[in-house]
Amino acid sequence: MDNKEIMRIILKKYFGYDSFKKGQEKVIKAILSKKDVLCVMPTGGGKSVCFQIPALMLNGVTLVVSPLISLMKEQTEELNKKGISAVCISGKQEYNTIKRIFDNADRYKIIYISPEKLANDNYLYYLLPLDISLLVIDEAHCVSQWGQSFRPSYLKIKDFLGKLEKRPVVSAFTATASPAVRKDILSLLGLKNTYTYIAGFERPNLYYSIIRPKSKNKELLKIVKYRSALCGIIYCATRFAADKVYDLLEINNIPCVKYHAGMSDKERAKAQAAFLSGEKTVMAATIAFGMGIDKPDISYIVHYNMPLSFESYYQETGRAGRDGEKAECIMLYSDKDPETNQKIISDCENIKDRNIQKSIIQNNNKKLDKVYKFCHTKKCLRNELLAFFGEYHFKKCGKCSNCKIQTMQKNITLPAQKILSSVARTKQRATLSENINVLKGIKTRYIADNHFDKLSTFGLMQEMKISEIRILINALINLGYLKLLHYKHKDILQLTEKSLPVLKGETTVYADFL
Ligand code: ADP
Ligand code: ZN
Repeated sequence: MDNKEIMRIILKKYFGYDSFKKGQEKVIKAILSKKDVLCVMPTGGGKSVCFQIPALMLNGVTLVVSPLISLMKEQTEELNKKGISAVCISGKQEYNTIKRIFDNADRYKIIYISPEKLANDNYLYYLLPLDISLLVIDEAHCVSQWGQSFRPSYLKIKDFLGKLEKRPVVSAFTATASPAVRKDILSLLGLKNTYTYIAGFERPNLYYSIIRPKSKNKELLKIVKYRSALCGIIYCATRFAADKVYDLLEINNIPCVKYHAGMSDKERAKAQAAFLSGEKTVMAATIAFGMGIDKPDISYIVHYNMPLSFESYYQETGRAGRDGEKAECIMLYSDKDPETNQKIISDCENIKDRNIQKSIIQNNNKKLDKVYKFCHTKKCLRNELLAFFGEYHFKKCGKCSNCKIQTMQKNITLPAQKILSSVARTKQRATLSENINVLKGIKTRYIADNHFDKLSTFGLMQEMKISEIRILINALINLGYLKLLHYKHKDILQLTEKSLPVLKGETTVYADFL
């Protein structure tokens, strides 16, 4: 059996997928042929499989350097569930726990490790004798001071490689890499004989717009209310702003949660869970929210403030439309934003070295300058964004606020009848998200308790994506065929006086869509 066949069998057996996503096969093949790899793929592109499959095919162990403890834990748990022996080593564990893991290292195919632990000389004694066949560096942009998420211990990875008797294959993965960051990754991680895979940065289903409202708050409320059945994230520049936005939405009875570094782990986990399940549709957050989040039905991202860099703008907007459905990225710009951002980037007290401090501020200023130009350009926003990542398109996209976005009218009478009849059958008592679960045929505890899985409308729109169902419900709300009743912090979906004629087939329903 050749490698190609084995790869496919592993993909099916452990991950349950029939075919590879774009680029995965190329990257895996390169690793198996013992080439170093730099893989730049957008969030959701499927990077994990690119190193998890080789990890299973190579002898010895694969070491994965990853900067986020929560993500490492989640990934190891996922792997263990699939029957792949994996473990993670991070800052929160006791020395003895870590020693025990290393003593049994040959039991594991994949060991996740934080960069700090890898750089810590105390663990070299255990790490050096390991039979490491592949060293994976996830979020590899953290090695570059051009990126916002610079982690000094990433710079030690190269030293670590130098100490190993047998150099493993090294592969670096990232979602955001401008040409400058890419260059840093190659040199600072010491990649050799490298196969570089760069996925296209184009996200054709995203619509970009920049708005300059007189009042950001009024505009935000308008945006969110017009999208009451959709899921969205409001990114704010500071914790303070995230708190304010949250309060604003809360006062206006919008089902929202918030997330920033000033909250406790428990509060954040609770907020995240409510957003992921669809129970709360709006998330007001700082950039602390989103890494490793895989919610496919996010239909809009609002930047309440001008972002600090193209990298972060691309990454944050990239969380919309993960399932391929059309989604919007709306930036609210005000002339005060550049000043606020100046303050944010000048604050790097945590970095002791004055010279490094100075160069970081300089770098950040350059990045800010580019975003500033982006906010003021009359050219196609998509093309400007792609050009930043080194991709050039010459046609206007027709899907950004500088190209003028066109909508299309569609007849949605049939899906409208399905949705309205389902709302009638859940007796107008179920929340928006439970109604969606009924239509999609997802049996939650609530649905089982209420026997909604016995309804004729259960699974009636099974073949649709959740975001498609949301978009249809949203249109019906805006046209007055449905309404959301805010009751005890829940959003109950109910019929209106306009619903009956649709159900009887007396009305044709048209709605505008992107
Ligand atoms: P990234 O790390 O690039 O953000 P992930 O590795 O988390 O992306 O993968 C994103 C999503 O795509 C996950 O839900 C994953 O299970 C799924 N996925 C990965 N590979 C495939 C594939 N070959 N076919 C279908 N889905 C896949
Ligand atoms: Zn455009």
